[in-house]
Order: sequence, then structure tokens, then C-alpha cells
Amino acid sequence: MLSGPEGESAATMARYSRFRADFPAIGIANGQKRKAADLPGLWNLLGRVGTVREYRVGGEDLNYAWPMTRGVGGMEAKLNPYLCGEPGIEALTVGALGLSRFAQGEVRPATNGRAVHLTLDCRIQNLAERYLLPSGAGAVMVVEVGSMKVRASVTGESADYSPSAEEYRGFESEPGGALLDWPRFWRTPPGSTFKMVTITAALMSGKLTPDERFHCPGYCMVGGVRRKCSHIHGWVNAEEALAGSCNVFTYRAAQRVGGDMVHRWARTMGFGRELPTEAYAPDIARSGLMSASHWGETGLWNLCIGQGETNVTVAGLAMYICALRNRELRTLVYVEPVGLSESEQEALGPHRLGSVPIREDVWDVISSGMRRCTEEGTARSARVSGVDILAKTGTAEIGGKHKNGLLVALVPAQEPKYCIVCAAADSEFSGGKMFGRRLHEFVGALLDAKLLPSTPDIAREDR
Ligand SMILES: [Zn+2]
Repeated sequence: MLSGPEGESAATMARYSRFRADFPAIGIANGQKRKAADLPGLWNLLGRVGTVREYRVGGEDLNYAWPMTRGVGGMEAKLNPYLCGEPGIEALTVGALGLSRFAQGEVRPATNGRAVHLTLDCRIQNLAERYLLPSGAGAVMVVEVGSMKVRASVTGESADYSPSAEEYRGFESEPGGALLDWPRFWRTPPGSTFKMVTITAALMSGKLTPDERFHCPGYCMVGGVRRKCSHIHGWVNAEEALAGSCNVFTYRAAQRVGGDMVHRWARTMGFGRELPTEAYAPDIARSGLMSASHWGETGLWNLCIGQGETNVTVAGLAMYICALRNRELRTLVYVEPVGLSESEQEALGPHRLGSVPIREDVWDVISSGMRRCTEEGTARSARVSGVDILAKTGTAEIGGKHKNGLLVALVPAQEPKYCIVCAAADSEFSGGKMFGRRLHEFVGALLDAKLLPSTPDIAREDR
């Protein structure tokens, strides 16, 4: 995203603008332009520009219209102070016909807007739009795990018309609105992608051991109601329960550790918390987290498998999955530290929102479960030769036959570079069916483009 005067300088425009009404032949053109990459999935993140017609300098109304393009939404609005320059002024005394100039008064030179470099990588954005996005509404995000830099952010539904600033503000906040930046604002129950929270809580408490097995006959009784599992999993341990996404095991684990502890770990990983953003980062909607003073069976069931009132944005899911790996909840970074002062670079982040103290032995179980998820579990269609993937699928029940398909992943498994989160709204498929094959295509494309080291390469480096 670049800004700055193009064609006539702001100073020239300032010089002639005040004579505009007297000399219609003098054309005053808009001196500010902003360009955005032609990637439809990005439009709602980059935002919109609008026209501001009043313009005052030094408290004085200059009495002419200055059509200036300013950001009114998304990153354009957030970064407006950096992108906009300041027009200059040059006071002149001229003859009655405006042709001869007698004297020059105050001169204030114009300053250019600044160039801002976003962290978005057009190659990854392109691949994410091509391979990961379902045909309907949804959102995708690709984040670099350690630096928290957002490399791709996709809104699956976009509008192809230009609304006014007022309309834009309305659309932006309206749930499901055409201009909503889905990765940041649309929320979905996390479904089974939440199971890492429950199983982490149970393992960290010591009330569940990695080898312990619970029996899944394909259902379990919760508050007198028969609740279904996706399969008859038989006797499974934590790792196998994650790979096959067993609801029954997860519920038994939650019963062991209790709802309060699951809730506490969920907050540690960002659920239900205000996610502060800095000067350079756009807002992210706060997620909801089920809470209860007393956890009944039904409440605990919904909590532990990510159903019910818990809901989260795709951006929030990315922060959670990165936190599992980083052992720290960090803010997302949208701007590169190019051409910024030291204090400005400081403000970019990532900022630490709290540590996520998962023990190494617990991470081993969680990561093994997520690895087996792509090797033999619910995300096996994502498997790619040459690179191991940690993943978890989820299917959020949103009423009746409606569901949201979800998939979270870390690649490569040994030393995760990217966190990938995909979500499809109101899809007829589960997360695995919806996104397994898509993730396979996407990771293959990352490998082909040399954007990802393959597992054999990592093994060679280790040697
Ligand atoms: Zn099961």
C-alpha cells in the first residue's frame, strides 16, 4: 500500500486551489491515490477510502473544496495517519486577472505520506485464496508462528461495489455484512479445534496421564441425554483421541479436571479475552467463552468440545494455535518494521499477552495427536509426502443441520513455520471433509514455491 502525491504536487494544488472558482479552466485533480493489490480476499482487510470535502489549515477555513482520499475502514483507516501527507500552502498576491504575481506570503512546504509495508505475502495470499478457500463464505489465515506476522488473510465473501463512509461503517460491524473482514470479525464456535485446550488442562493437572485410556462406544450419556461421538473409537488415549477427534474421551478428560480448570486454560490461550491491538494492527473481535459458577454435565460437555456459547474469530484461533507452540499468547503483526523509528518498531509487536506454560511432555502428547490427525485421523486427506503436518479438524454445530467446518494446522511439524486456520460458514461438510484435501493442495504449493522446508531437508540440517 503506497501513498503520496501523484501528478501535481500537493504544493502546486494548494497554490491554485483557491483560485479554482475564478478560473474554471484550471483543473484541480485529486493529488492523493492509494493502490491495493488485486486480491479479492484481501479487500475487506485493506479497507476502503472515502472523500473528505472540508479542509482547514491552521484553524483557517480555506474556503475551497479539497477532495482528499482518506481511509475510512480496515487497514486504510488504521494506518491513515501514516499514509496521509500534509498539504503545503503558499500565499500569493496576484493581479486582478490572476496572471501576474506581485508578492509571496507565507510558504509551508507539503510533506509526503509514508510508505507502510504490510506483512502480507502476496505469494502466500494468492495460494491461500486459490487452494484453501471454500466456494461459500468463510475465512482463512496464515500466520508465521514465531514472529506472529500475518502472511495471508482471506475473506471468502466480498462485495463488488463502493459504499459511502457511513455505509461502510455500518457494513463493517454488521455480522455477515458484505464488507466484514471475516478473519477478524466473524465468529464461530471452535468445535473440536478446542480439544487441545481440554486435553492440555487434563494432562497439566496430572489428573490424566498420557497412557490412560477411556472407552468410546460411539456415544455417552450426558445429563440423561445420549450424546453422539463421530465414530466408535473404542479404547483410546489422549493422543488417539486428538487424532480421531473423540468427544467421549474429551468429555471424560474434562470430568477428571473439572470445568473451572478447562475454562482457565482456555482464557490463558486467549478465549473470552479482549485481544488488544496496537497502533498498527486492526481490531479483532473478542471471542466468547462459556462460563458457569457450577459446571453441570451439559455445560461441561459443550465447553470441552468447543460447542455452545464459546465462539472465536479465525484470527483468535490463529493466536491460540501459535500460543500452543510458542508457550506464549502473542498479538498478531500486520506491518513490517521498514522505515520506522525504533519506538514505532516497538509498537508493532508481537506483544506478549501472557505465558502459556505447557510442559514439554504435555506438548509431546498434543503434537503427536495432531500429527496422527494428518497421518491416520480426521485430517488424513491433508497428508503430503515430504512434509509432516500437525492439524486438528473441527465441526461447529450452529443449529439444525447447519455447521461450520474448521481446520487448524502447523507446518512443518518438527519446527512449525506457519500456522494455518481455515473456516467455512454454514457448510454441509465437516472440517476434515471441507479442508483436508484443500490443505494438502496448499502445503504442496508452498513446498513447490520453496516457501516451506520439507521434512527431509530439516532432518538433514539436524544431522
Ligand atoms: Zn469417540
